[in-house]
Amino acid sequence: MKPSDNKGIFNSPHAHIANSFNVYQQRPPPADHPNAITCGQCDGLTWRMTDRCIHCNFDIAADAQEQQRLERLEQLRFDQQRLKGKLLPLLILMLACAIGIALAAFLAPQSPFIYWAVIGIMLVLAAFIKPLAEKLESTRNQIRSLQS
Ligand SMILES: [Zn+2]
Repeated sequence: MKPSDNKGIFNSPHAHIANSFNVYQQRPPPADHPNAITCGQCDGLTWRMTDRCIHCNFDIAADAQEQQRLERLEQLRFDQQRLKGKLLPLLILMLACAIGIALAAFLAPQSPFIYWAVIGIMLVLAAFIKPLAEKLESTRNQIRSLQS
């Protein structure tokens, strides 16, 4: 077995394997190749699975990771807005109920039914608010961890 004579990145005593890997490292792919991608820095065609662009040495892997992070962040911010939009009317209703109870106490009605009715409504509202608030909190934490 003769030692590898190639000067590529991937080194192996099995020259025919090492050479075929290094051909992939050093030459741009044909445009119709399934693993051909366009470099974000030089717009040249390079390989999907290599860490760096074969033309300009741009760190493709790190760039792809950064793109993924930004996309995730955008999605999380969208979710956060949607959750806030759902939560707000429920919180306003909750506030209205609290005002209702205060008003009932002030007017002192004959039957205590009005208290129990409003408290019942508040419990139902709370059952809807709790999971939304928890989801909002976890979304906020995910955004915070992605931003740091
Ligand atoms: Zn490049």
